[in-house]
Amino acid sequence: MSIPFQLLISEGFLNEILKHALEEFPCECCGVLGGQIKVQENEKLGVVTTVYRLHNSLESEIEFLSSAESMLKTTKELRQKGEEMLVIYHSHPVSFPRMSKKDLEMIDGNNLLHLIVGNVKTMPEFGLWWVNEQKKAIPCDLILNNPS
Ligand SMILES: [Zn+2]
Repeated sequence: MSIPFQLLISEGFLNEILKHALEEFPCECCGVLGGQIKVQENEKLGVVTTVYRLHNSLESEIEFLSSAESMLKTTKELRQKGEEMLVIYHSHPVSFPRMSKKDLEMIDGNNLLHLIVGNVKTMPEFGLWWVNEQKKAIPCDLILNNPS
């Protein structure tokens, strides 16, 4: 049994992700959220500090594949900043932010969370998921951090 994974993110970062999704519309966008993981008691909390855009090499409206070059560049930047890769994000331009069958197939069991922004032009909505060993998508909590 794994511990619950939550994500702390600012509204500004969510807006950045939505902006990316709108720029790539009608194709899916994809990227990475970097930050720090804090483990306390029975909880794992990811604190987002940077949004990294990746390039969807499929340039598709229904799926994404992060290009190797953009992923390599981001991995280097994460290392330089001392950040961990917390989340892979992507958009579902005209559907709900639920993990699709294809999304689940693409994942090989890991510690990452998956953030999806859905219905980006009509009713933007975020979904946060963690995928367990049985390839089941478990919804996770997105906590808004609004700097005062
Ligand atoms: Zn998807």
